[in-house]
Amino acid sequence: SKVLLEVANLKKYFPIHTGVLSVNKSYVKAVDDLSFKVREGETLGIVGESGCGKSTTGRTIMRLIEPTEGSIKFDGIELSTLSKKEMRNTRRDIQMVFQDPYASLNPRHSVEKILEEPLIVHGIGSSVERKRKVHELLEIVGLSVHHAKRYPHQFSGGQRQRVGIARALMTNPKLIIADEPVSALDVSIQSQVLNLMQKLQEDLRLTYIFISHDLGVVRHISDKVGVMYLGRMVELADSESLYREPLHPYTQALLSAVPIPDPEFNREQILLKGDIPSPSNPPTGCSFHSRCPYVMDKCKIEIPKFVEVQSGHSVACHLYNEPQQ
Ligand code: SF4
Ligand code: MG
Repeated sequence: SKVLLEVANLKKYFPIHTGVLSVNKSYVKAVDDLSFKVREGETLGIVGESGCGKSTTGRTIMRLIEPTEGSIKFDGIELSTLSKKEMRNTRRDIQMVFQDPYASLNPRHSVEKILEEPLIVHGIGSSVERKRKVHELLEIVGLSVHHAKRYPHQFSGGQRQRVGIARALMTNPKLIIADEPVSALDVSIQSQVLNLMQKLQEDLRLTYIFISHDLGVVRHISDKVGVMYLGRMVELADSESLYREPLHPYTQALLSAVPIPDPEFNREQILLKGDIPSPSNPPTGCSFHSRCPYVMDKCKIEIPKFVEVQSGHSVACHLYNEPQQ
């Protein structure tokens, strides 16, 4: 299938205000030189700890946050240079699902009104057509017409996220960016929502970017997974390959904390020393070096390049960047 989204060398730097007299400007490099592609109908999982830049990445693609540098090509259109008005039209095709549906759904609006809103914003359909679409979407996400007149507080967490998903689908988008869509839900409800998202993807030929702090959650839904650390992609691979043979020491540590059902497979948990450093003052060289069990001298000086070391499997780590003999 064709490439729907291509992000190249994307950067988002937030200036730090250190005082009126400061001469040297400093920045938090929330997203630093990110490149990836997502094909039509595919799911890219983006995983990392809080503060790694994964949410900023999603919001920058949507232009809810302005990129500092880099290219965001969606369906043949360069989004980074579109005017706000042009971007509004494109936003029909890219929608977001948020972590906390309760915070993202207006508590004073009925579900019908909440779902109708994106259509009104984009000037789609007559009132009758909009209502019909609302009812259709309620059914599609496993709710019913009877829920239309209810308010967000009358729903369970799982039902609210179904409403959030229905709202994202109202404009028939091509790409859904889901930012921790199941993290606020009970574990038993998580798999229901994940199954729904998977079914919708097949039925509606959707493309997903699925953002999560949890490698376990994205495992089954993702075709490809990218792991981020302090604003950079440190590993990107087909799901299969990433879970079978994680290359980056950070991915190895994250994965060792994910419980696996196979008792034959005895994997020891790798405990990382220290906390994730402040993004405003990241370590020199490889930003993971302060926590890496394999740190070498050169890691403290040189930023490792992001290189494809096996077909479809890229990693940024000096352990793999030695010239091949
Ligand atoms: Fe560890 Fe060095 Fe690889 Fe960074 S580059 S992950 S510090 S071995
Ligand atoms: Mg986040």
